Amino acid sequence: MKAINRRPVTVTWLTAGYCTHPEWVTIRGGSRRNVRFPAGFAVIEHPERGILLFDTGYASRFFDAAAGWPYWIYREMTPVFFEERQSAASQLLDKFGKRAEEIRTVIVSHFHADHIAGLRDFPEAAFYCFRSAYEAIRGKRGWSALRAGFLPDLMPSDFAERAVLLEGSGDSWQPLPDDLPFSTGCDLFGDGSVVAVDVSGHAAGQMGVFMTTEEGELFLCADAVWSSRAYRERRPPHPAASIIMSSRSDYRTSFEKLCQLHEDRPNLRIMPSHCREYGVPAGKEENG
Ligand SMILES: [Zn+2]
Repeated sequence: MKAINRRPVTVTWLTAGYCTHPEWVTIRGGSRRNVRFPAGFAVIEHPERGILLFDTGYASRFFDAAAGWPYWIYREMTPVFFEERQSAASQLLDKFGKRAEEIRTVIVSHFHADHIAGLRDFPEAAFYCFRSAYEAIRGKRGWSALRAGFLPDLMPSDFAERAVLLEGSGDSWQPLPDDLPFSTGCDLFGDGSVVAVDVSGHAAGQMGVFMTTEEGELFLCADAVWSSRAYRERRPPHPAASIIMSSRSDYRTSFEKLCQLHEDRPNLRIMPSHCREYGVPAGKEENG
């Protein structure tokens, strides 16, 4: 089987808070209960670039950003539980001895609040994302922002200057091994360490990334599915979930690719951002 990445990295999966939501919306056959959805993010240790982040999870500013009308509807739909020590910035300091100002790169899978709430904690970071993801939320406020799952106050004021907007095609796109359901991938740093593909549908221009660690190959698929059971058992979300999707047909295409990827490379670990198999933070359910 041909390798996807030329350069190995180390990946640590962490969570920064969680929200609760009825399980049946997120997966066909799910229970009526409210379940916890941890807000996962990845710390990537790159041999030359140091520590990079893939998303940030929640941060305490989420509560302010979601306080006004109509944004508080977001909080009502997905009650959030978060403690300051769970922020990406706090955990980087605790677990890696890294101050937030030392982080130079944050990869943004998409612009939903539970993925970008921590961006403003990283004043020196460049933000890597697909241009299509950024264009889908740029300048949005009020209802149009809310419909895109976007809380404008979470964005760093200088985001546009610090963004590395990746086009959907071009020189950095390389052919991927034939057995993969993605024909090409965007080599983010030109060294084959982090290879991005488009998994749109849940959100426009959503990015998933392939990496290889000592333990094997990984695919961080963001919110293309909400749990690993979804691609293992081919169980898509309930149609009710489509109200938050950018495109139902793109969602189906991305979902099918994940199922295919799992069938073709069962040892490649596909990690959805909110999958409970990768840890639910303990927390008091009181500040939602
Ligand atoms: Zn999302």
